[in-house]
Amino acid sequence: MATHVLAVILKNPSNDAQFLLLKQNPPPKFGQDEYDSYVDSDLWDLPSTLLNLQHNHSNSGIFIQAAQSFSQNIDLTKFDVQLGLNRVLEQVSFKVSDVGEWTLFKYVEEAEFGPGFPVNTVFLMGKLLDANQNCHGLCKWMSTESCLNWLLEVKPCNDRVGPLVVVGLVNDLKQSAARKLPPTLRYQEYPPGVILVPMRSRTVKPFHTTNLVIFAPENVSDTSEDCSFVSHGDALIVDPGCRHEYHEELKQIVACLPKKLIVFVTHHHRDHVEGLSIIQKCNPNAMLLAHENTMRRIGKGDWSLGYTSISGEEDILVGGQRLTVIFAPGHTDGHVALLDVSTNSLIVGDHCVGQGSAALDITSGGNMTEYFQTSYKFIELSPHVLVSMHGRVNLWPKNMLCGYLKNRKSREESILKAIENGAETLFDIVANVYSGVDHSFWMAAASNVRLHVDHLAWQKKLPEEFSIQKLHKTWVSFILRWTCSYLSSRFPIKCLKLKIFSLLIAGIVVGVAVYYSVKPA
Ligand SMILES: [Zn+2]
Repeated sequence: MATHVLAVILKNPSNDAQFLLLKQNPPPKFGQDEYDSYVDSDLWDLPSTLLNLQHNHSNSGIFIQAAQSFSQNIDLTKFDVQLGLNRVLEQVSFKVSDVGEWTLFKYVEEAEFGPGFPVNTVFLMGKLLDANQNCHGLCKWMSTESCLNWLLEVKPCNDRVGPLVVVGLVNDLKQSAARKLPPTLRYQEYPPGVILVPMRSRTVKPFHTTNLVIFAPENVSDTSEDCSFVSHGDALIVDPGCRHEYHEELKQIVACLPKKLIVFVTHHHRDHVEGLSIIQKCNPNAMLLAHENTMRRIGKGDWSLGYTSISGEEDILVGGQRLTVIFAPGHTDGHVALLDVSTNSLIVGDHCVGQGSAALDITSGGNMTEYFQTSYKFIELSPHVLVSMHGRVNLWPKNMLCGYLKNRKSREESILKAIENGAETLFDIVANVYSGVDHSFWMAAASNVRLHVDHLAWQKKLPEEFSIQKLHKTWVSFILRWTCSYLSSRFPIKCLKLKIFSLLIAGIVVGVAVYYSVKPA
């Protein structure tokens, strides 16, 4: 199963090298100046729409050249192509009759980013018949070369080019390291030079994969010994966190990369480091870069060789390409991000995820105050794209980060309100603030509450009579009460013996739950 998108490459009748790009609609504003003052720059991409299935497989009346040569991968008769084309051309104020022949230019199956089904893209190419037809102000003619220049010579706040045109056209223009990777591997290269390979990992729902990010600039061997860089290499990979069963695949990837390899880990969670052992086995010269708080938590079984400690602001040189380390605590206390300077892409580790919000790990120095500070730091960088380690890339970085800040501030206000209304224990606050949320999520919610209360204390917002030390001491009683209420809600108990048995189970669960249930991926 997959969702399908139709992307249209509409060629300029006066200039065969040019095609039409459409300014993309940004996500809705928040209605609050605090967030709406942060605006992502304009994003230009191929006009596109979702492709609907049609049930009677009737001929759409539009002949698509070359459709036969892709028939093993996609059967276009299953889709309402005519409706799709009408919708796309409407966006750019043209009609199907304004265009000559249509050709199926490319069909791209998405890698397993999740959550949900992959989104596969059908690229149809056509040319306008009349050279005198003008396009409206939200469109512009661009060539592949000019798109590539925009993508590789970026300045923060400049206009941006989206992934459809990159995957559909731009990546074909240049030599990519991705071509050396195993042919069966599913990946996405966006922006050019930033290769994402979602690999199956022990991560938490709704995701199943961790993105392995690969930088391997072509034909550039770095011989520079400029000591202003913390590390030099010919290739770099970020967060090799695939499960043991996929180590063979990781081994094949490492075998395709240059020997002078830098391994960068954003933090120590298992779904980000599980592949380290196989890397040091197949390339003992690989150089590991990590924060010292991360390194403390990585076992010798995963990495027994030396490493270079990073703390933020260091530059790394990979095949002549500069990447800057950004200290980004919040998710954990050793969490770091990486900025690819030439494409202005920010690899954010688990600070953000492709969908929903990221959990903070209270057992590894997760900190709400630092999470907020890191979010603002990321916004100030004005990245062109956010690359999280789970899910798809995000094309509206400021909007996404502001959404996180807004949701967390709103949650924090509810917690403060509950406290002002007399809630003193962790259970009281969680029961009040998360009353509409399934009890199975309350354990994670309790960690979140503790982190928010610490942040409220840091802002000096808590009522004077409220004792934060007292609240932290109610952690164990929270687990007992939560376990009992959870078991009672799942298994209604009438018999006293069973009630005692349930309490015994609760006691056992307490110890285990304290550690495991609050530990995010
Ligand atoms: Zn994590």
